[in-house]
Amino acid sequence: MKLKMETIFIESEIRMYIPYGHQTITEEDIQAVVEVLRSDYLTTGPAIGGFEQKVAAYTGAKYAVAVSNGTAALHIACLAAGIGPGDEVITTPITFAASANCVLYCGGKPVFADIDPVTYNIDPADIERKITSRTKAIIPVHFTGQPCEMDEIHRIAREHGLMVIEDAAHALGAGYKGRKVGSLGSDMTCFSFHPVKPITTGEGGMVVTDDEGLYRRLCLFRSHGITREESLMGKDEGGWYYEQLELGYNYRMTDIQAALGSSQLEKLDGFIGRREFLAGRYDKAFEGCSGFICPSQLPDVESGWHLYVLQLLEEGRKEAFARLREAGIGVNVHYIPVYRHPYYQKHGYQDTSCPHAEQLYQHMISLPLYPGLTEEEQDYVIRQVKGEGALQ
Ligand SMILES: *Cc1c(COP(=O)(O)O)cnc(C)c1O
Repeated sequence: MKLKMETIFIESEIRMYIPYGHQTITEEDIQAVVEVLRSDYLTTGPAIGGFEQKVAAYTGAKYAVAVSNGTAALHIACLAAGIGPGDEVITTPITFAASANCVLYCGGKPVFADIDPVTYNIDPADIERKITSRTKAIIPVHFTGQPCEMDEIHRIAREHGLMVIEDAAHALGAGYKGRKVGSLGSDMTCFSFHPVKPITTGEGGMVVTDDEGLYRRLCLFRSHGITREESLMGKDEGGWYYEQLELGYNYRMTDIQAALGSSQLEKLDGFIGRREFLAGRYDKAFEGCSGFICPSQLPDVESGWHLYVLQLLEEGRKEAFARLREAGIGVNVHYIPVYRHPYYQKHGYQDTSCPHAEQLYQHMISLPLYPGLTEEEQDYVIRQVKGEGALQ
């Protein structure tokens, strides 16, 4: 009897908490996973190629390589790009640490360019200022799902002979000048399928590319650097024979995850439509109110609306954060500028100066945004952010 009451209590507590992001899993998703569990292949089976083909077709890329998470996608992309000791790679500080860590994994050096104060994406003009003779690549991050100014970034990359690896963890399904992210002309584009991302596989990631050579290298680095392809091997000693050509990793995705991903992809456009609708409701609620700055969209992009980042100018962000968490709202801060982390501070980033990133970091707060957020829940969030209405 006591146990039952506790359960009910815990359930009502969970329901009162509105997270900043949450997956949407349907009965079809569950069935797709169950089918794989009843099949012969749990990994390296047909669901992997199926999911890769679907993402390639959806994004308009030629090749896709599924991996165990988005960080692994960034890591093998840097390896395939040939990033190594002494190489510099330019990225934004307003991102998850993985966008820069992937460069460190390869022995390279992340260099932070400041953000544009309007879009919060990496500022192409500051990329140009940060280029040195050692710069090898740019990792633009489509922050909150809004694509970066890719035409300008590609012009800079062409002029200086740099690779471009898009961190599109927020931006599967987003568009730029009528094209989908994944076919904007970069060397490689990386996605994440973590539960809060546009679609989920639990953990998961993917790299897409149009370049066959990069595709082959990505496949190698995903699985120990091992190949069985005759065209890549020096010799063939028999039917058992394979060769390790590079020092790769086990970054494979399971078929269980891939089946979930294929099923989720069918719903992606609907998810984004719902996110856009809810973002529009936030805009309406906060626009014209003093004390708030709503996110800005460029006219020629279609955001994936991964996050809704509001700037608070009147109420202190620390106080507002504590107050909203107290009210059962899982607000968050995306992101602490990467160079501020102790690991980076210890490794030579004390003098990194990105004034726009610093300014944004002082005021930003991420409000709940995900397809399953109801309008009633959102209205509650809006009232609480504005400081209207008593705590529930
Ligand atoms: C989530 C995320 C990643 C890492 O993806 P995981 O699947 O969690 O490894 C990388 N970059 C950005 C911008 C992200 O949001």
